[in-house]
Amino acid sequence: MTTTAPRDEQLWSRCDGCASLLYRKRLRRNLDVCPECGSHARLDAPDRVAQLTDPDSFVPLPDPAARVDPIGFVDELPYPHRLAAARAATGLDEAVLCGTARLGGHPVALAVMDFRFLGGSLGCAVGELITRTAERALADGVPLVLVTASGGARMQEGALSLMQMATVSQALAGMREAGLLTVSVVTDPTYGGVAASFATNTDLVLAESGARLGFAGPRVIRQVTGAKLPEGFQTAEYLLRHGQVDMVVPRHALRGRLAALLAAADSGRRAPETAPAPRPATASTVTARPDRDPWETVRTARHPGRPTTLDYLETAFDGFVELHGDRLGADCTAVVGGIARLDGRPVMVIGHQKGHTTAELVTHNFGMASPAGHRKALRLMRLAARLRLPVVTLVDTPGADPGVSAEQQGQAAAIAENILALTVLPTPVVAVVTGEGGSGGALAFAVADRVLMLEHAVYSVISPEGCAAILWPDSSAAPQAARALRLTGADLCRLGVVDELVPEPRPAAHADPGGAAELLRRAVAANLAPLLTVPPATLVRRRRQRFRRFGAARSAGPSPAGTSAASPPAASPAGGRAEVA
Ligand SMILES: [Zn+2]
Repeated sequence: MTTTAPRDEQLWSRCDGCASLLYRKRLRRNLDVCPECGSHARLDAPDRVAQLTDPDSFVPLPDPAARVDPIGFVDELPYPHRLAAARAATGLDEAVLCGTARLGGHPVALAVMDFRFLGGSLGCAVGELITRTAERALADGVPLVLVTASGGARMQEGALSLMQMATVSQALAGMREAGLLTVSVVTDPTYGGVAASFATNTDLVLAESGARLGFAGPRVIRQVTGAKLPEGFQTAEYLLRHGQVDMVVPRHALRGRLAALLAAADSGRRAPETAPAPRPATASTVTARPDRDPWETVRTARHPGRPTTLDYLETAFDGFVELHGDRLGADCTAVVGGIARLDGRPVMVIGHQKGHTTAELVTHNFGMASPAGHRKALRLMRLAARLRLPVVTLVDTPGADPGVSAEQQGQAAAIAENILALTVLPTPVVAVVTGEGGSGGALAFAVADRVLMLEHAVYSVISPEGCAAILWPDSSAAPQAARALRLTGADLCRLGVVDELVPEPRPAAHADPGGAAELLRRAVAANLAPLLTVPPATLVRRRRQRFRRFGAARSAGPSPAGTSAASPPAASPAGGRAEVA
């Protein structure tokens, strides 16, 4: 915001976004967000601290930063002159304000950068202060929140400012090892060495609306490449689409969103409460009607009215905060994940998302995860383990995305990595097959301590159509293949692949989504409770034993001769598309 004239400075501001003349007090009440166009004006560090923390809770770190001029830098002015001018103009010692505070009642350590101070540049003193803040967080056992606003490393301190990227990152590594949450709040602008270190290597990255983040700035990129930059390049929304940030949050919602995330991390830190005695790990009380044709179950499992993962997150869980992105270049819409509460306990929920209408199905790629989807899931699973949050997966996919670009981006390796990671994940994992459990794409979410299945869900090595196309004369034999594959819950309980069937309202979940959600909630809670008190090492050992036993052949009656676990490459894409078309 620019002031109109010195005389009116305190009264009126002109919005940089829409040029509206705004009454200054009204603008301040609105957290410096233009009420006309929503443009977020830059905040200085003291204002930011005041907006984010609980009243009177902020306590600055005790020792101020040392005043340094490590290389005796001089351009038109000696560096110490520039520092002195920045201090006089901002009233700050350095380009960051650090301390401890409470946020939504949760204790945190907090470092907030100030762009007014030499462009928020990262010098030795800034690096030192942020490092001390992280060390304080580690010592106190509390989360760390970093609010970034920076043009990058401070040139006037030479290579020593470059070293700060490593110094601060190392402090964040300590937080990670201790299982303490780190969050960066990226504000406008965040570039260069700050973007390439602590703005992005935290557990969670929130971008404030209107923020831009990048390694190289647009001017440099244009100069070097001569390329025309895409619309919205490096904006918060662009970063979200490209998997770089977990969420874009308007300023008004920032404090509440941070408080919700801190609450989840806080619960993971607390010792698990005494859980009820473990329930015997027997197959469910639900027995599928023997007269029901498995092909009918396949059709029910694919019913467009069947509740999706987002439906269950709305109904069976509370307070879902969605986390986005694989941090590598994409955010897959076929996979949704984030922190939610189940009976008051924070859990990481990750699931495939389909949809009810054709438009929704297309938006979510029919629940077929890309490699980015598997990598997002993996990122969230590992984050859950670090924060000691249990993982609940909801499996509903015809299979992993069989497209060309998925192959180019390493679909097979992405699935393989998830399976491997889940076998050693040191936190409880409960998987529920809610609809279709298709092939490796399903297993990538279902290497779990307890594997549940909804009464009318199916779980299979290949779709019946795909199987029919390979082993029968043509795909019209899908109903026969469905019978042969033993893909219903009752069959899979007998085989030990599934531990328990979750009953559905009559005739099936699509007829009463609310009732289905309640049954799912109860089943997940009951299966999770006994796992919460098991030490992580024991949990992992038992999970590995659970899957080790499948190495010994078990028989469930006749099966088509020559059945292969792997499908020829040609069959999968057609089968995958056909079954949801
Ligand atoms: Zn405006």
